[in-house]
Amino acid sequence: MNKHAPNPEPIPFIDIAAQRRRLGGAIDAALARVLAHCQFIMGPEVFALEAELAAFCGARHAISCASGTDALLLALMAKGIGPGDAVFCPSFTFCATAEVAALLGATPVFVDVDADTFNIDAASLVLAIDTAKSLGLKPKAVIPVDLFGLPADHNAVLAAAKAADLFVLDDAAQAFGATYKDRKLGALTHACATSFFPAKPLGCFGDGGAIFTDDDGLADAIKSMRVHGHGADKYDNVRIGLTARLDTIQAAILIEKLKIFPDEIAARNRVADRYAEGLADVVGVPKVPAGSTSVWAQYTIRVANGRRDHLAAKLKAEGIPTAIYYPIPLHRQQAYKHFPVGEDGVEVSERLSGEVISLPMHPYLDKPTQDRIISAVRRALAG
Ligand SMILES: *Cc1c(COP(=O)(O)O)cnc(C)c1O
Repeated sequence: MNKHAPNPEPIPFIDIAAQRRRLGGAIDAALARVLAHCQFIMGPEVFALEAELAAFCGARHAISCASGTDALLLALMAKGIGPGDAVFCPSFTFCATAEVAALLGATPVFVDVDADTFNIDAASLVLAIDTAKSLGLKPKAVIPVDLFGLPADHNAVLAAAKAADLFVLDDAAQAFGATYKDRKLGALTHACATSFFPAKPLGCFGDGGAIFTDDDGLADAIKSMRVHGHGADKYDNVRIGLTARLDTIQAAILIEKLKIFPDEIAARNRVADRYAEGLADVVGVPKVPAGSTSVWAQYTIRVANGRRDHLAAKLKAEGIPTAIYYPIPLHRQQAYKHFPVGEDGVEVSERLSGEVISLPMHPYLDKPTQDRIISAVRRALAG
C-alpha cells in the first residue's frame, strides 16, 4: 500500500454491517414472525433462546434479561448483597462490574489484575479480603471479569473465594463462548453474567443480557426479580425486583446469531493469530494461557514509553480507528475513588491504563485489510 495515498479508505473498528449482510434474510424472517404473533414481552423466542444458551454453555439455567448490567445486578440482588457487604472486583474493567455493588449499597473493593491476562489476580484478592475485614466490612462476593474475551483464572479465584465463603459471579459480558480448562464459561462459577450489547462477541440489536447458573434456588429468585419479584403470578409480589426482561424481538435476533456464533469465534481467533504473527516483535500482544480460549471481544496490545498516543494518531491519519479500554482504572474514577483498594495496591491496573490500545477486531476482518493495519502499526512504531 502507498502510505502517501491521500484518502485511505476508513476501516471500521467493529463491522456489524458485514454480519448483517450474512444474516440479513434470516433475521428479517425471524422479526416478521415476532411481528405476526405480537408477543413482544416474554414471547416464545425468549424461552427458546434460553434453552439454546443453556445447552451452548452447559449450564443448567440460562435466564435472559435486559442488559449485562442487569444480569450482574440481579445475581447480587438474589444473593441479598447490600450495605456492609464487600464485593471484590478488578479495578481494570468496565464500570458496570463495580457499579452493581455500589447500587445495592454494598462496597466495591478494588483488586489488582495480572499484567499478562489483564484479569483479576487471585493473590491480590486474598489480600483485599483482609483489607475489607479490617475496615469492618463483610466479605460476600467476588466478580472476576473475563476481560477482552479471555477467561480469568477461575480455579485460583474459586479457591480464594472458597476460603472466605464468597459468592463468585463471573462477569463474562465480553467473553460468552470462551473456554477455561476446556469448559465454556457459564457453570464454572456460582453464577455467570453476560451482555448482548451489539458490540459484544454475541450481540443483539439493542440491549440484552443473561445469567447462567447450576443453582436452582438462585435461578428461581432471578426469574422472579427480573419481573418485579413476582410469586405465583405477576400480581403476587414476593420480592423487590425490576423490569429487566429481554425483549422477544432481541431473543429472535439472538437465536439466528447463535447459529453462526461458533463460526464467528473461529474467525475471531484467525484474526487474533494473524495480529500476533504480524506484531509480536514490536508490541506486547495478548497471550492466551494453556487450557483457555478467548472470543476476542477486543484485540488489545501494549505500547510502552508513552508511545501510545503517537500510535493512535498515526493510525487515525491512515483511516484506522483504535480505542483505549480503559484509560482510567475504576479506583481513580470520580464515582468510585472513595471505595477501598486491597492492601497490595492496584499498580498493574495503573500501568495498563497507560499502555493499552485496542485494534479493529471482528470476524469479518479480511486479510488485506488486516495487513494494512499491521503494516501501519509497524511503520508508526518505527518512526
Ligand atoms: C459491557 C459490559 C458490561 C455491561 O453490559 P451492558 O449490557 O452494557 O449493560 C459489564 N461488564 C463488562 C466487563 C462489560 O464489558
